Amino acid sequence: MKKFLLLLVIVCLVPCFGCNKQDLENSCYKIYAEYLDNGVIGAHLSFDYVCDIKDGTDVLKFNLFTNAFRKDASITPIEDNISVYGETEIISVKEKGEDLKFEICGSDKNILKVELGKIICYGEKITVDIDFGLVLPSGSFRYCKGESTVNLGNWFPVLCVYDNGAFYECEYYAIGDPFYSEVADFKVEMLVPSKMVVASSAKASSCDVSGDKTLYSYELKNARDFALVLSEKFSVISEKSGSVTVNYYYYDDSEPEKTLEVTKKSLEYFSTTFGNYPYDEFSVCQSNFSEGGMEYPGLVYINDTLNLANKLYTAVHETAHQWWYGVVGNNQLTEAYLDEGLTEYSTAIFFDENKEFNISSALIFENARKSASMYGEILQSVGKETDYKMVKHLKDFSGNLEYVNTAYNRPLTMMKTIEDAIGRDKVKTVLKKYYETYKFKTVTTNELLENFSLAKKLLSSYIEGKAVV
Ligand SMILES: [Zn+2]
Repeated sequence: MKKFLLLLVIVCLVPCFGCNKQDLENSCYKIYAEYLDNGVIGAHLSFDYVCDIKDGTDVLKFNLFTNAFRKDASITPIEDNISVYGETEIISVKEKGEDLKFEICGSDKNILKVELGKIICYGEKITVDIDFGLVLPSGSFRYCKGESTVNLGNWFPVLCVYDNGAFYECEYYAIGDPFYSEVADFKVEMLVPSKMVVASSAKASSCDVSGDKTLYSYELKNARDFALVLSEKFSVISEKSGSVTVNYYYYDDSEPEKTLEVTKKSLEYFSTTFGNYPYDEFSVCQSNFSEGGMEYPGLVYINDTLNLANKLYTAVHETAHQWWYGVVGNNQLTEAYLDEGLTEYSTAIFFDENKEFNISSALIFENARKSASMYGEILQSVGKETDYKMVKHLKDFSGNLEYVNTAYNRPLTMMKTIEDAIGRDKVKTVLKKYYETYKFKTVTTNELLENFSLAKKLLSSYIEGKAVV
């Protein structure tokens, strides 16, 4: 074994030639998983990694988000005791049937580090096979076995983004959306009890019933993640929008057609305004989820307790995330305002131009401005310093109030100020170009500033926290 590895190391120590930066094929997650009724999943991930690191790598790191739900987690979205904590077991990691060395590390056991035993050069491919088992936590999280739904968001090991010379490790903070990933391709097979209805990030390419089990198969290209929601209670209504099928999965909604209608209309509006929605299907799912909603490529959650206005608002907000977060990605731990700000702005202009839904965009803008301004005043009144900087790590927020004002309200006010300065048509033109340029890539504040050259100074003053609302 050692000799074999040594030989591989010697062979691969030859420098990586031919490292020309060019468009590489996506890495691919091939997952086979079985969901058992008791909230347990057994899964196999066969990860085809295409190396995009200029100097090559002999290590891969994966975010292990499910580990944040274990009982002794210190960085966790769980705030109170829950009846069942999550458990994650990495059973084996192999390449071509041979064991690879791995460890669970990171600041809170949030990282799966795999030693490849050889250097993989830029553009080279390696397939890493990971067998893992999960016990889902109870509750109403992105990942949980809830009363009505099983939420499978961030449920498998996800490759860390290689950023600034290292794999970027995501910790699962209670505040914000602690995710950062590159686009990849997905081939997912999910075996579930036949009584369950399954919503997912992609259209099922096949559905094989065998006794009381059903196997669903999916393929999705160019996506940052792959999520599913399972429920015995789901009803589903669907409508076509061009070539895209829009679905609404629900179990507690007396007027489901309204949510489907606003989703379809907003998908069409954002496609026309910013650029085409890239997938065949889009599903909105009611779920046991404690926040308003949550975005994944091709699938979003909305909280099952929302009133009609909040349901419509949330459905549109999560739909807009398909453009900002989904297609144009960013590090949501350090620059959450990039996707949340544009998403809030997109939502507001949708309601302004689609008045039949009776949601006032003037009120949306005004509430954001007032809330951000009042937050600043409250801090000043208790002698605390106001920090309006938008580029800020999730760990540095004092609480949800600061996060909401920094990542949602002030960026929305910033976008409205720019709109007032240069006009909505110009803002739309800039965002269309931004979408086209950074489609399936990740951006930072620099790319936003470059695109808004017309209002760069105004934008910078907000982002740096100088402009007072
Ligand atoms: Zn959002």
